Amino acid sequence: MRRRLHPLIASILVSLAFTAGFLFSHHRPPEAAERHSFALGTLVHLKLYGPGAEEALDGALDRLNELEDAFSVHRVGSDVARINEFAGREPVPVRPETDRVLRLAREVARASSGAFDPTVEPLVSLWGIGTPAARIPGKEEILRTRGLVGWRDLIPPDGTEKGWKLARPGQALDLGGIAKGYAGDDLAERLRRRGILAGLLDLGGNILVFGPHPGGGNWTIGIQDPRKPRGTPLGSVTLEEGTVVTSGVYERFFEQQGVRYHHLLDPATGVPARSGLLSVTVVASSSALADALSTALFVLGPARSRSLLARYPAEVLFVTEDRKILLTPSLRRRFRLTDRSFTLRDLPGEKAP
Ligand code: ADP
Ligand code: MG
Repeated sequence: MRRRLHPLIASILVSLAFTAGFLFSHHRPPEAAERHSFALGTLVHLKLYGPGAEEALDGALDRLNELEDAFSVHRVGSDVARINEFAGREPVPVRPETDRVLRLAREVARASSGAFDPTVEPLVSLWGIGTPAARIPGKEEILRTRGLVGWRDLIPPDGTEKGWKLARPGQALDLGGIAKGYAGDDLAERLRRRGILAGLLDLGGNILVFGPHPGGGNWTIGIQDPRKPRGTPLGSVTLEEGTVVTSGVYERFFEQQGVRYHHLLDPATGVPARSGLLSVTVVASSSALADALSTALFVLGPARSRSLLARYPAEVLFVTEDRKILLTPSLRRRFRLTDRSFTLRDLPGEKAP
């Protein structure tokens, strides 16, 4: 009697054959599907390659909605909304994904000396940037509100308390600086598991690419020119896989008497960060990390970025107000400048290996 192929081996063989076909055939491109949508408070564009790509898109959008149920500060009953509601009172049990994102948020907050701070919500609300209520608060208000911000007051579960807690009433979380990145990692992992071979996930300018580029070669990701309309790049980065995340003054802001008040707040001063920057782009393998780092590095600025960059496997590109682009040396090799009105410089203190 002939032995039948073990189902696991058979499925590995099938997927190997498919991958090989995908890699080597230019005649039969894999099934592809693409969708534009709105989730996590931002525009989402997903492009997937592989068997079942169309259904996988539905799954991905459902998953984004689930993550919004966990992370959104505005959705009643979300993990974040409940932690905020019970601030200063009791710990709140959360979903595993919320637990993971809070742990990373706390870690980056510590590593950046609070430049990234997930408890920044009271300041975000005070300024209201990006909402109709946006205004310049008074000095007193800023001072008082700043006193509510402090990542050390975000207390993880311990042996007796089975939940996350904010130490003081009036404190609140805002995961706007990390949630989209986490969502990108989460989607990529799920899509891979269900057999999607490659994809490009754009969550409001947080880009993640996985799998081999269907056209062969590397992926090329444009970097937004912070002074131009959306979709106008100043240059591009090539990468095999990974994430390119940008934080910039062009996302949400208002202008008054020639001053731009943007949505990246410095928890130390309580006002929009003034680090001489227009944007910061981080290239890394984890999108959650890149997202938190892009916010932290925007607040710190190039001069204070060194210890944070030494600690994490991430590359960075700063665009300054005086049209310089400062970048880590290994990124410089993968970056192509298209707008020649910018000047390229190695990040001070970083030497090419
Ligand atoms: P976006 O892609 O929306 O611009 P960013 O990663 O640049 O996202 O983060 C900006 C958002 O993060 C703000 O809208 C706010 O919700 C939150 N935020 C602002 N300042 C800080 C900060 N210093 N630390 C952590 N989060 C912040
Ligand atoms: Mg960020």
